[in-house]
Parts: sequence; structure tokens; C-alpha cells
Amino acid sequence: MPELPEVETTRLGLLPMLGSSVLKLEVMQTRLRLPVPESLSAIEGQRLDTLTRRGKYLLLGTAKGSALIHLGMSGSLRLTANTEPYRKHDHVALVLNNDWSLRFHDPRRFGLFLWLEDEPLNHKLLASLGPEPLTPAFSAEHLYRLSRTKKQAIKSFIMDGHVVVGVGNIYANEALFYAGIHPLTPAKDLSLTDYQRLYQHIYRILGAAIERGGTTLRDFVNSKGDPGYFQQELMVYGREGKPCMICQQSLQLVRVNNRSTVYCSHCQPAFSE
Ligand SMILES: [Zn+2]
Repeated sequence: MPELPEVETTRLGLLPMLGSSVLKLEVMQTRLRLPVPESLSAIEGQRLDTLTRRGKYLLLGTAKGSALIHLGMSGSLRLTANTEPYRKHDHVALVLNNDWSLRFHDPRRFGLFLWLEDEPLNHKLLASLGPEPLTPAFSAEHLYRLSRTKKQAIKSFIMDGHVVVGVGNIYANEALFYAGIHPLTPAKDLSLTDYQRLYQHIYRILGAAIERGGTTLRDFVNSKGDPGYFQQELMVYGREGKPCMICQQSLQLVRVNNRSTVYCSHCQPAFSE
């Protein structure tokens, strides 16, 4: 699943198309997570002015409105030559005036390609999102304040997009390990000092992942099927049953909100009053 760092990498890779105009919209499949709206045809003739990101949503801005795009579970966006034939699962294409075409490809069709005429940040999908993790709006104090009444597991809490955007499963596993926090600890039971530690590691791990362009493991498996370098840097994710890199105890696996969660019961002791 594309995580925030991959979405940011996608955004950076598409910036060269800004300034070009849309000659034609081609929609091969309207049935995505929400239907591709008829109103998207308003993008024809428009110049692509901006490409911004909010959480894992991309906003392609024009004078008339914005396309709101989400990659879902398996989506990708790429620029191809206009002459290249469509691939299976290319659902939406913007044919540009410079012989290029922006293509939205999504085999599982959990993605989105919407059209918004009003201020996109007020749209219901975006308005309630938590802060971006690498901005000053995200802090230990923010986590502490929001968590005071939350009995939910800390791992679910930090993965909730209303709390902070972009902390996907891998990042949550790793940050909790480095912070020495058991993933099932009720969010309200952690102190400000705990949140300061956790915040630092979330910031550091996501910052590094964005710099590298994401950690999706399949991207780091080379053509021989050997895992790439990033997997060797992961302390807990995907390492259940293997020895903890700090204390050598066997790492445990638990499901939290149905997401696989690996932790060290020695380095991340269960919370007790
Ligand atoms: Zn350990």
C-alpha cells in the first residue's frame, strides 16, 4: 500500500508536468472507491498549476478547480508518452498538450479521482485530517493533549489520521519499538515524557523514509528476490520470532486493529500503573 513517503515521492516525480494543459480527459473505468464524477471533464482545457499533498491525498490544482487523487491500496500515477498504449487497470488519463499523458493505474480500485470546485482543504475527506507529521503543528504536546481520554491502544491512536497523518503500519511498529512503548498501552496512560520520546522517533523515521522515497518492502526486493537494504534496517516490522536487535529476546507478534504488530516484550514492557 502506498504510504505517505511514496505519495510524496510520486508528487515530486510529477512536478515537471506543471504548466502544461489538459487537452483531453479519458476515463476508462469510473468505479473506484467513489465513482469518478462527470464533473471531472471540467479539467479539459485547464492548465495544471499546482500539485500539493495533504496526508496521502494529492491535489492537482487548476484555475477552475482541483482533482483530488488518492492511490488507495494499489494505485499509481505516472507520466507516459501519449503514444504509449493503455495498460490494463489504467482507469483515468489526462492527455497533456506536450505529448505526455498522466495515467492513474489502480488494479484493486480503492483509489479516488474526484473533482472539487470549492476550496479542497474544506472537503470532508480532508477537513478533519490531523496535522502533517513533519510540520510544527505535530508535537508531543499535540499527542498528549488528544490522548487524555483515549483508551484505545497507542498503536491505533498514532495510526489514526485524525490524530496525525502518515503514520502507517511499518512506521508505527518501528517508532513504538524505539520509544520502548508496548503497542497495546492505552493512549491515555502515557505521560508527556513518553509522548516526547514517541514523537521524536515518529518524526525521525518518517523524515528518513520521505528522504528515501518510502519503505514499501516490495520496492526494495531486487530482481533475484533478495530483500533490499531498508528491510535490514527495520528493528521489528516483519521480524516476528527473530531475536530483538537490542536484547536478543524473541520478538512477539500481536494483531492490533487487525494490523500485524511486532514488538519486544523486554524492551517494550506491558504498561502497569
Ligand atoms: Zn528487546
